Amino acid sequence: MRIIMVTAGNYGARVVNTMAVHGLAPQIVAVFDYTGEGGDFLDDPSSLLPSRTPDADLTVAAGLGGDLNLVAAEIAAESGSGGIIVESHAPGQLPDGLRSEIDSLVDCAIFPTPFCSLEPVGDPHIDAFASRFGKPEVEMEGNERVVSVKVKRSAPCGSTFYVAENIRGVPLDEVDVAAGEKFHNYPCLASMEVDPRFGDTHLHVAGYLTREAFKRAAGVPGAHAEVDPEVCRGAECGFICMDVCPLVRLSMGTIRRGVTAEVDPFSCGACEKCMRECPSGAKKMMGPGKR
Ligand code: SF4
Ligand code: SF4
Repeated sequence: MRIIMVTAGNYGARVVNTMAVHGLAPQIVAVFDYTGEGGDFLDDPSSLLPSRTPDADLTVAAGLGGDLNLVAAEIAAESGSGGIIVESHAPGQLPDGLRSEIDSLVDCAIFPTPFCSLEPVGDPHIDAFASRFGKPEVEMEGNERVVSVKVKRSAPCGSTFYVAENIRGVPLDEVDVAAGEKFHNYPCLASMEVDPRFGDTHLHVAGYLTREAFKRAAGVPGAHAEVDPEVCRGAECGFICMDVCPLVRLSMGTIRRGVTAEVDPFSCGACEKCMRECPSGAKKMMGPGKR
């Protein structure tokens, strides 16, 4: 697979570096860096196109603001890329109108928000990328403590590799807390501003996704919301907890709708939003320090 990277700023550089260090260097056929170029609105995005664009199968845009993402889409079209991945890690980075314009230029455009929520979508080239970078996934060895961690899929910024390297020796029942702490040490460059699309910050969501990977691998769910099925009145409240859960709003299956609401304890980020909004008091927080 031939990949073109279109980047700007520290975030873009970090993604390119992660991909190159962790196995995709031979597949990157060009990096077009737009650090310091443009703004949210460009009169003529085509004026920023490179003089020569190599053929490619996939274009990845990372760290671009506003109309610079259109430049990436035009590069993708020019290169023959069937797919483009345009990440966003801050609110307002990619308005709906811009997504539609990008959609119209490339066969398959996807917009992972944040980038570390990316999973396979059914496009061969995007899925080849998403098998290695996107929503974190790890395998862990260890009985009572973490002995080793294999990263199956890393957040594109590389934070999953960092957490994996620094979590060895931690007791399995402390993996949730330790993974959260290591993740915040990295540091993640995602925004701390609340995104109205999902009612939380990109930084927090990135942390939830990282902790989920390590909790699943450890087999210990850590802090999470739990529903009392005797108390839950989902049919009456309209499953309001699903409307406020940032992960459900990002299409993760964190809360399922059955006869009552059901929380996946590994996916839950323990943000407590559902507990605060539940009109029946059916949600309580479980796990270390929560009972
Ligand atoms: S847990 Fe609370 S908010 Fe969620 S469906 Fe049940 S009653 Fe409604
Ligand atoms: S605490 Fe509730 S709202 Fe927050 S992530 Fe878990 S299930 Fe979703």
